[in-house]
Amino acid sequence: MSAFRAVVVDKTEAGQTVGMREVDEAFLMEGDVTVRVTHSTVNYKDGLAVTGKSPVVRRFPMIPGIDFAGVVERSEHPRFKAGDAVILDGFGVGETHLGGYAGMARVKGDWLLHRPDGLSAAECMAIGTAGYTAMLAVIALERHGLSPERGPAIVTGAAGGVGSVAVSLLAKAGWHVVASTGRPSEADWLKGLGAAEIVDRAELSAPGRPLGKERWAAGVDSVGSHTLANLLAQTKYGGAIAACGLAQGMDLPATVAPFILRGVSLLGIDSVFRPLPDREEAWSRLARDLDRAKLAAITTTVPFDGVIDAARGILEGRIRGRVVVEIG
Ligand code: NDP
Repeated sequence: MSAFRAVVVDKTEAGQTVGMREVDEAFLMEGDVTVRVTHSTVNYKDGLAVTGKSPVVRRFPMIPGIDFAGVVERSEHPRFKAGDAVILDGFGVGETHLGGYAGMARVKGDWLLHRPDGLSAAECMAIGTAGYTAMLAVIALERHGLSPERGPAIVTGAAGGVGSVAVSLLAKAGWHVVASTGRPSEADWLKGLGAAEIVDRAELSAPGRPLGKERWAAGVDSVGSHTLANLLAQTKYGGAIAACGLAQGMDLPATVAPFILRGVSLLGIDSVFRPLPDREEAWSRLARDLDRAKLAAITTTVPFDGVIDAARGILEGRIRGRVVVEIG
């Protein structure tokens, strides 16, 4: 049985530990498809798993990495055969089931997708859970009947993973994108992705009034807390905010005023247990709509040895856009 390297998070009496280890397939959990992992990525949740800052890991030892791309080595699942190029995001991989920061992964075939036509393994991981979540948010706004003629779209956490992909997708679809960021030094980079206006995130992150001036028709929020409350309070009549994250906080100190006086909607976005048809729709839209030059502009690539530092970096606000991890 051949050995491969894996990032292993473990729990000892002294607390959580993390390090690179050599393991073999006997270390992996049950599943009907074994995948040789070529690429993974770093999401906010991976940062939480690697640092132990929040209890997202619920089984020890754990291999973090909520996404991976690779090639099927063996399969007992009817949809997959050896040699198929596949991707995975979510389903508790990297939290309750051993994840993508390893040379090999064994998972349920029901969790896998065939790699979308037109996207390389590295591009799929440049998108990763963050980018796929941004796409789910944009689709939710469209299904709500919103379009660029209704007014601007706000994106919070704009220099982060979800945010940078959301800015790119919304700008490509013709929206006037307002990008909220705490990193003014990234203003030109965000404008390069298609942002029309930059706002300082401090303007939105403090407690605000129940209703404010109507500024945007739609929004993608990866921040939560007062920021989401302020977004709702400043949404135009009939508009909607797609909420997918909690980088500022899990709380939502809002009032019902935007809902009952302006018909504003709050659209919840979960990517982890999203049914297969929704995943396939989001990934085929990403393959079709996401500008490859913009994807390249938001992507940094790190070697496998750099993944632990990158996972710490995402929580420290050191990471811009998306990170691809070269595993195989
Ligand atoms: P990133 O760290 O890449 O992006 C988060 C961004 O939020 C930062 O870059 C920063 O943007 C902003 N931010 C950070 N801290 C604060 C703060 N205290 N107040 C206001 N803004 C802040 O993470 P991801 O893009 O990977 O994930 C973003 C969020 O979305 C996370 O909470 C994550 O858990 C969640 N998520 C949820 C998913 C779902 O299924 N619902 C799937 C994927 C992610 P800037 O520097 O521009 O200010």
